[in-house]
Amino acid sequence: MAWGRRKSLSYNTMPDRDPSAYDPQSVERRWQQRWEERGTNRTDVAGAARPFFNLMMFPYPSAEGLHVGNVFAFVGADIQGRYRRLTGADVFEPLGFDAFGIHSENFALKVGTHPAELIPRNIERFRGQLKRIGLMSDWRYEVQTTDPRYYKWTQWIFLQLYRAGLAVKRRAAVNWCPACKTVLANEQVINGYCERHPDVKVEQRMLDQWFFTISSYAQRLLDHLETADWSHSTRTIQTNWIGRSDGAELIFETPAGRRITVFTTRADTVFGATYLVLAPEHPLVAELTTAEQRTDVNAYRRRVSAMDLVSRKVGDKAKTGVFTGSYARNPATGETVPIWIADYVLMEYGTGAIMAVPAHDERDFEFATAMKLPVVRVVAGPGQDAAAPLAAAEPDVPDGRLVNSPGYDGMPWAEAQRAITAALAAKGLGKAVVNYRLHDWCISRQRYWGPPIPIIYCDACGTVPVPEQDLPVVLPALEDFRPDDSGVSPLARVEGWYRVPCPRCGKPARRETDVSDTFLDSAWYFLRYPSADRDDVAFDPELTRKWLPVASYIGGNEHAVLHLMYARFVTMALHDLGLVGFEEPFSRFRAHGTIVKDGAKMSKSRGNVVNPDAYVDQWGADTFRMYLMFLGPYQDGGDFRDAGISGIRRFLDKVWTLTGAVAQTAQGGTAAPELTRMMHRTIQRVTADTESLSYNTAIAAMMEYVNALREGAPTAALLEPLAILLAPYAPHFAEECWERLGHATSVMDARWPSFDAALALADEIELVVQVNGKVRARLRTARGTGQEAAVKAALADATVAKFTAGAQPKKVVFVPDRLVNIVV
Ligand SMILES: [Zn+2]
Ligand SMILES: [Zn+2]
Repeated sequence: MAWGRRKSLSYNTMPDRDPSAYDPQSVERRWQQRWEERGTNRTDVAGAARPFFNLMMFPYPSAEGLHVGNVFAFVGADIQGRYRRLTGADVFEPLGFDAFGIHSENFALKVGTHPAELIPRNIERFRGQLKRIGLMSDWRYEVQTTDPRYYKWTQWIFLQLYRAGLAVKRRAAVNWCPACKTVLANEQVINGYCERHPDVKVEQRMLDQWFFTISSYAQRLLDHLETADWSHSTRTIQTNWIGRSDGAELIFETPAGRRITVFTTRADTVFGATYLVLAPEHPLVAELTTAEQRTDVNAYRRRVSAMDLVSRKVGDKAKTGVFTGSYARNPATGETVPIWIADYVLMEYGTGAIMAVPAHDERDFEFATAMKLPVVRVVAGPGQDAAAPLAAAEPDVPDGRLVNSPGYDGMPWAEAQRAITAALAAKGLGKAVVNYRLHDWCISRQRYWGPPIPIIYCDACGTVPVPEQDLPVVLPALEDFRPDDSGVSPLARVEGWYRVPCPRCGKPARRETDVSDTFLDSAWYFLRYPSADRDDVAFDPELTRKWLPVASYIGGNEHAVLHLMYARFVTMALHDLGLVGFEEPFSRFRAHGTIVKDGAKMSKSRGNVVNPDAYVDQWGADTFRMYLMFLGPYQDGGDFRDAGISGIRRFLDKVWTLTGAVAQTAQGGTAAPELTRMMHRTIQRVTADTESLSYNTAIAAMMEYVNALREGAPTAALLEPLAILLAPYAPHFAEECWERLGHATSVMDARWPSFDAALALADEIELVVQVNGKVRARLRTARGTGQEAAVKAALADATVAKFTAGAQPKKVVFVPDRLVNIVV
């Protein structure tokens, strides 16, 4: 707003702006310009002595611009990077853009603009937004997955995995979205519907697809999780997704001599297996089906083939199935049991056949009830009647021992599991095995906007990898890139592109026309960053040794099973090929939380999406950054409310005024001892909290300190450490304060202040806690602890809790640093 116009607004009761007041826009403009000029954010990638690779999940540059969720993630990571730099590390904090993939392509189709035109525009806008937020990124190392200089190496990675036998093409039942017109990974199917098309049911199709055999790495992926310095939540999600189950394969023979192998995790219940269920796709179904049952079986199989894999796994739907007409012998009881087919059994899990134990499996119980099949209890707890009928399945029987299992009755079930497996193995009717839920990664997509898979098919030579010196296989510019129902990529319509001579024999051959999954682009981008300026290698060995594995990676748990699993797998594969010296790419991973707006999930339809630009315009990047970090524990997230942001601004205004006063009077002098103690205590708290990503409490500690300084006599010695503590959180603001305090260099070149632990401890006081006027506890708390924190600490004390008995305080009497009296 122009100065003259403001003057003319006579009704404006706001006082005229104090020219010495904090003006975030000018401060932030000035420092961003200086950082650029001085190269403040540049990392000496080749020469760094104490490398610290600070990674954040590079964004997909959508047309909507940067999302506040991105800002929340990046600022949290940036704070970590700046903190490490201030403690002496050489921090490398690059950013890039994950711009291939179906999101970009679908959007381009919607607005009728080619993605090759849209993406550069989106990236331009994103980069501008990211710079405004004040990230410490070294933009010289930006990567774009859509750049041929990048995807040349994505294709090279494919070839390395192909060379290792980890990339294979095979015909498989895959999820097909009729709207996307491409296959989807299991992870992209939500309850039977496409994740991008919530009203489009996913179908099953048999197609030739490229797979990375990640399942052969399942155990290693699982083992490393045990010791990984990763968020517990992320490790749990990955562990469950890999889904190891220890069990046994048991053999049920048919009278005709066919051996049906079933996988079970409960061999101890084999005496209760009253029927078998095969997946409708099981190869033995046709042979086992009797003439009378053929019509029903075929009709059922047709119906199931129209369903997707994921909705078949949904447990609570009504059970359906058909009897094949055949029987098999239970290897334990010797009795014959009927063989059924049902959609709840999947070919992908185990052997595609199960022994059904309705007494101890919920789905089997439902199925047996619906089909009127026998239910036999084989595990009973103390006092349970072995003959009593079951009202429901009992999968877990506490202190269960075997019943109705001749030779094993009375044996604890875990012991019986081993004993029965061993006994059947001795008869050639079983063996102990391990199974995983993790399936191979289908990486081919029948779409346009991705790197072409570098393979050529020759009638004489078969499948021929594109020679490395011929990379990249450039994605041709295609006017009409719409997908169709044919099950092949739009590239298959461009004869001039796919007809090539065979690299081996020179005869006419054709290129693979599928492109690779966008998750392959992001499965290795961290390896590229330090070598982003190199065209001769994907990643330079020496730089890779210096910077990787990544020291700190921060991102969302929505990527726990896709990106994070794939990146680990690709790294392990490259390690096994001798191309990198480590097996795990990320030494430390922390999952950040999510933020909501006014208590509700942000969404376009609700109209409650926080637009970062509007807030940066109004409040400045520093206030916005700090407010996002103050919403709650960073790893939990928080609730964004417009009313809250002014509190952060008032805090920064206070610091501004304090530094201004000190700068003007050149206040040296001796600091009051209680303020010195509090300074040490504040440094201690902010150090510990910043290191552990407890950003909200670090900010609270700085606020308490500033309030104390305002009441006492601030000196430069008390304010200088504060400017450094603030630098990770409000970098432009901290630079300005640092300069006002008389420094000519960047605050980012300062050293993180140290603290005297004894002095910090002396800043603790004894707080007397009363309940209804009677002394019940004495707590050690920080001097200057506010009422809210004091009451919280008091209520958390075990003795106090006994006297309040969970009741909410009716009244609180608070004498700072002395006493809190809770009236209940
Ligand atoms: Zn779809
Ligand atoms: Zn050939």
